[in-house]
Amino acid sequence: MKILILGATGSIGLQTIEVIQKFQEIELVGFSFFKNIEKAKNILKIFPNVSIFSKHVKTLNSCDSYDELIDKTKPDIVLNSIIGFAGLDLSILCLNKKINLILANKESMVVAGKFLIELANKNNVSIIPVDSELSSVFSLTNNNKNNIKKIIITASGGKFFDKENLDESHYKFNEVIKHPKWNMGEKISIDSSTMINKYFEIIESSYFYNNEIDVIQHSEAIVHSIVEYLDGSSIMYLSYPDMKIAIQNAIFNFDSKKQIINNLNYDKLNLNFNKIDENKWLPIKWAKDFLINKNLSQPIIINASNDYLFELFKKEEITFNQIIPTIEKTINKFINHKISKIEDVYLLNNLIREWLKEKKYE
Ligand code: NAD
Ligand code: MG
Repeated sequence: MKILILGATGSIGLQTIEVIQKFQEIELVGFSFFKNIEKAKNILKIFPNVSIFSKHVKTLNSCDSYDELIDKTKPDIVLNSIIGFAGLDLSILCLNKKINLILANKESMVVAGKFLIELANKNNVSIIPVDSELSSVFSLTNNNKNNIKKIIITASGGKFFDKENLDESHYKFNEVIKHPKWNMGEKISIDSSTMINKYFEIIESSYFYNNEIDVIQHSEAIVHSIVEYLDGSSIMYLSYPDMKIAIQNAIFNFDSKKQIINNLNYDKLNLNFNKIDENKWLPIKWAKDFLINKNLSQPIIINASNDYLFELFKKEEITFNQIIPTIEKTINKFINHKISKIEDVYLLNNLIREWLKEKKYE
């Protein structure tokens, strides 16, 4: 099976390289990266003959575009593991080329899930999510899609969940990216602490599953999802927090035979669950609003402003606790925009970035 990785130098990309090294039957045919030439060189040491593409770094034998990279390598599957809105173009490109997509870039599903699912169905290709929660629901529902009452994903809650009335304004970027349970890229770690990551996953889940969706807080990050059945029973999916299991499941379509992480040590398990206060964690309230209203502009607004504010927080131009109130103002300003085609997604995304750039929310 030939696989191409877009965004191979990131957290998910490098973990996928680790998974690929364990399997003879998977062939890495190419990868893209953004600017991190050192990490790209390390991958090339392991796979010297693969094709590569980077917008910023040209080396010998590199392709000139994503198009060329895909056409030259002819992959069976593409993993899109780049970060943020930039991933949308590539999800569309792969689906247009009728290639099965493994999607870590949840942002593209969040802003354009309706259009991506339509495109995948039209071209008869699949989209499989690489995210511990969504992947675990796929595993749980693989054999029994009937009689499901509700799907519940878990939220570890990030850095600040347990802190009562804490003023987080003094927390700097480098402190907030240290997630208590997961070792992830910078942006998703910040998104976890604001609960925007869970907002994204609820929206994404609404495109993958036709069931009622809920969320519960679970600090230990051992249970990734719970599927409730009509008869009152439920099944939980448990594993140590490690993305390699979701990556392997996506590559092998949930039929993995090789042990990729250790089983749990059950006698040491202590599992706790808490209801999330939606008045304190507004992204969960926004997600619930979306599940009811299906207003397609809302996820685009939230994603665009979140992408932009992440950069400002990283540059220390705003404090951590300005992120959510600013997103809220942006929602109030743009929520009535109508989204009827994919071009509208790009237009609204740009409009919001311009509005934020001019600091019109102040
Ligand atoms: P990361 O920042 O570690 O890596 C991002 C990759 O994308 C890098 O290879 C980078 O070179 C590339 N990239 C960055 N900007 C780009 C651009 N404008 N154009 C093209 N390439 C660009 O991110 P990550 O943590 O690996 O996350 C990737 C995706 O996976 C995100 O959507 C995230 O939400 C999702 N995800 C990550 C984890 C995790 O454990 N890291 C878990 C679940 C889901
Ligand atoms: Mg997740």
